[in-house]
Amino acid sequence: MKAIRVNEHGGPEVLSYEDVPTPEPGPGEARVRLAASGVNFIDVYQRAGLYPMETPFTLGQEGAGEVDAVGEGVEEVSVGDHVAFASVMGSYAEYAVVPAHSLVPVNVTLVEARVAAAVMLQGMTAHYLTHSTFPLQEGHTILLHAAAGGVGLLLVQMAKMRGATVIGTAGSEEKASLAKDAGADEVILYREQDFVEETKRITGGEGVDVVYDSVGKDTFDGGLDCLKPRGYMVLFGASSGPVAPIDPQTLNQKGSLFLTRPSLARHTLTREELLWRAESILSWIGNNTLEVRIGGTYPLSEAAQAHRDLEGRKTTGKLILIP
Ligand code: NDP
Repeated sequence: MKAIRVNEHGGPEVLSYEDVPTPEPGPGEARVRLAASGVNFIDVYQRAGLYPMETPFTLGQEGAGEVDAVGEGVEEVSVGDHVAFASVMGSYAEYAVVPAHSLVPVNVTLVEARVAAAVMLQGMTAHYLTHSTFPLQEGHTILLHAAAGGVGLLLVQMAKMRGATVIGTAGSEEKASLAKDAGADEVILYREQDFVEETKRITGGEGVDVVYDSVGKDTFDGGLDCLKPRGYMVLFGASSGPVAPIDPQTLNQKGSLFLTRPSLARHTLTREELLWRAESILSWIGNNTLEVRIGGTYPLSEAAQAHRDLEGRKTTGKLILIP
């Protein structure tokens, strides 16, 4: 089968489109013939070595398709089932072997496979951030960076479902209008405007209850100044680079703030939790409560271009690869 392999860490050019043996499912595993694979920023960190990986490896950790073989003792799925998954390596390929307990059933009459592949990782991320890390309620005001990105557009919609007021940031006018269309109440063009001043102006000096920050290095310090006393800084990514170490005393001085650095894997710890998050999202898509914007579709062989576009801040919504 064809797959995108990383033989050494580096820039997008290290993504190598190769022939590799089709993997066989072992006990408790199923093989999925992939209809589409999702591109995520974590793939960039793993390719570049910010998250070091043992090379060579097949990149990608999100996909959807049809089960075409199962290993011994698999009870969760059968051959022919339509499924999707996230947080399992090896999805930039024609086939992926996945632990059966990590597979989520997909009703393809309601949610197309490529939409399922597009929403699993970023959708469940937006879900845990809005429902678990800081459970939003009516009356809360949030600041969300990169609001027109993959996680961003989904998080805007989920925050609105929960009744929050959403202040987003975006890197261009086009991105700002997409975030507004998704429901953002206000969008700050943070490459032109000082987002701290703007957030204070919009909130009448009060600040926000929570900052959802996936941009990291460029926005973290300013975000702390946007929070109300006892507000929550939820740092969940590093699109602009990792944040420097912080003195806990800063959290005291800036208003008895809370700081967390959550990850999806720790919010899908049991099959019950995985199914709660994934099935909520798939059902919202099925009943048109949640819209998934696929901002770019690339052949698997062009994964490197997808990475260049994502890192180059050229994309909106989700990027997918078609094997
Ligand atoms: P996005 O679609 O949001 O793409 C990244 C966006 O970040 C860009 O489009 C850009 O938007 C903004 N950005 C700001 N500065 C930079 C920069 N220097 N370089 C590149 N982009 C920049 O990606 P994803 O939705 O896939 O992921 C968003 C973030 O969420 C990532 O940091 C990712 O690691 C994190 N994440 C964390 C998870 C977790 O559980 N902790 C799970 C999933 C994702 P603009 O032009 O508007 O500034």
